[in-house]
Amino acid sequence: MSKVIGIDLGTTNSCVSVVENDKPVIIPGADGSMTTPSIVAFTKNGERLVGQAARRQAVTNPDRTISSVKRRMGTEWTTRIDGKEYKPQKISAMILMQLKKDAEKFLGEEVTEAVITVPAYFNDIQRQATKDAGRIAGLNVKRIINEPTSAALSYGLDHGEPQKVMVYDLGGGTFDVSIIEIGEGIIEVLSTAGDNHLGGDDFDERIVRWIVNKFREQTRVDLSRDFAAMQRIREAAERAKKELSTSNTSHIIQPYITQAKGEPLHLDMVLTRQEFESMVSDLIQRTEDPVRSALNDARITSAQLGRVLLVGGSTRIPAVQRKVQEMTGKEPSRNINPDECVAKGAAILGSTLQGKGLVAAGTGQDLLLLDVTPMSLSIETVGGVATRIVERNTTLPARYSQIFSTAAPYQRNVDIHVLQGERPMARDNKTIGKFRLKGIKPAPAGVPQIEVTFDLDANGILKVSARDLDTGKEQSITITADDRMSDVEIQQAMQDAQNYAAQDQVRKDAIQVLDEANKLLVRTERSVKNAGKQLDRAVKKQVKSDTARLQKLVAKCRLDRVDEAQLAEIRAAKEELEHSADDVLRTWP
Ligand code: AMP
Repeated sequence: MSKVIGIDLGTTNSCVSVVENDKPVIIPGADGSMTTPSIVAFTKNGERLVGQAARRQAVTNPDRTISSVKRRMGTEWTTRIDGKEYKPQKISAMILMQLKKDAEKFLGEEVTEAVITVPAYFNDIQRQATKDAGRIAGLNVKRIINEPTSAALSYGLDHGEPQKVMVYDLGGGTFDVSIIEIGEGIIEVLSTAGDNHLGGDDFDERIVRWIVNKFREQTRVDLSRDFAAMQRIREAAERAKKELSTSNTSHIIQPYITQAKGEPLHLDMVLTRQEFESMVSDLIQRTEDPVRSALNDARITSAQLGRVLLVGGSTRIPAVQRKVQEMTGKEPSRNINPDECVAKGAAILGSTLQGKGLVAAGTGQDLLLLDVTPMSLSIETVGGVATRIVERNTTLPARYSQIFSTAAPYQRNVDIHVLQGERPMARDNKTIGKFRLKGIKPAPAGVPQIEVTFDLDANGILKVSARDLDTGKEQSITITADDRMSDVEIQQAMQDAQNYAAQDQVRKDAIQVLDEANKLLVRTERSVKNAGKQLDRAVKKQVKSDTARLQKLVAKCRLDRVDEAQLAEIRAAKEELEHSADDVLRTWP
């Protein structure tokens, strides 16, 4: 059986690992380096380059060089080169093919199976696109796992003591933070949070801007429209940034960067670590909210963390390490190589799935992995309400069912509208799928029983089905690329959820109060009827007037417009009816 390789398919760099003699080792790229730039280029003479080779020629061939394609995974983005259209999956597949080739050279045998990692925030479509990329590259993708989970796995192999761990992963293009529980042979992700558009690329961009501005001040020449110069500046900026992780100053020199009045101009400036830190401090600060939210979701404080692991090349920046320590009160662990641990974890999982029976140190049990859903999943119900089926941060694999019914008498079809997001109203969430269950047996409203099931597999991929329990008729949905929630949308949705938290709380409360009010109205009507003539006239009059008032307020209430004052009025009316109808409800239930 061929070996299963573990692949960290990164935004900036990718890394591949395999388990040899029970230990994960990194497979070097063609040039001997441990990571391969996630860059693909098409040369003018039809050659296709991947990795370092693509990176080296990027300056002279910028418009035929593709980098950071991971940001486009699962989107409609395409690029046209030499009349051919390429989707992100296709470009990613080219990177994977290179890694496969490197692995085959290293192992001296054909490699056909892999475990690939993705950011914890990747949605179903992005995960599926990653799987497709693997398939295009000729790999059977045995599992897609979250990067922090993978890092923890590589960590758990070396150490095995039960503890809760924070994985702080700041790479080239994404930031993920996860709280992970390492237990007896089990690694469980308790919560994840992050920012899909934050990473080393943004730090580079700040330095680039600083260089361009400084050069303009010095020479009055604007380099920002000079494509080739900008590519060189971008590379110089990244080099300077890396140097500043170990030195206090970096000398940025780029001779012959441009010409003015027939004279060559050189770029020559010094950037200090202090200047760099002040230009990126707001970016580093942006990691604080996700850290808080991951801790909150895991219902722990930083004091309960056993360790804090640093993952991703950008965690080599001393200011980042200081920030992590300041936020958690813990010195982050450094005995885990930030560029390699994700790939190593994937290789360990690959080996485990192949039945090699790798065990967590000291436990004698096979390692088990549990991942979580990054966002809640719901369906739309009466009144445009998003009724949650799967809560955010639910452990995978998961299967949840709930019984629903029809809202109108003799309804023959129900439309299942599947949503992703944290907001209480359906229209504020992302539609990820819609389908119709037809042929329900005609019955009064509320009688048919429709079982809706959400099935999430270990890769976080979702299948929704609806079944009429009476007839056994069933319909299900496979989410298509058109219905995806992009990483930008996830970010936006998380932001919206925060911005509208107060408004949403009112709506959530309103949904509950209206439900209670309606139930009270139904019960009161029934009790008054049951009481008949036995009911005291004065009481009856009061109950009737309180009922009418509550009915009016409930009918007037629109969930999309409800405010605190209106809600308070309904609550007060409900309390009055509860009070006046108290005896009736108890005596004639
Ligand atoms: P990753 O996605 O984990 O490979 O991280 C890549 C990012 O880490 C890129 O933005 C790199 O520029 C950055 N990086 C790598 N090494 C260093 C370093 N020594 N100091 C600062 N940033 C680094």
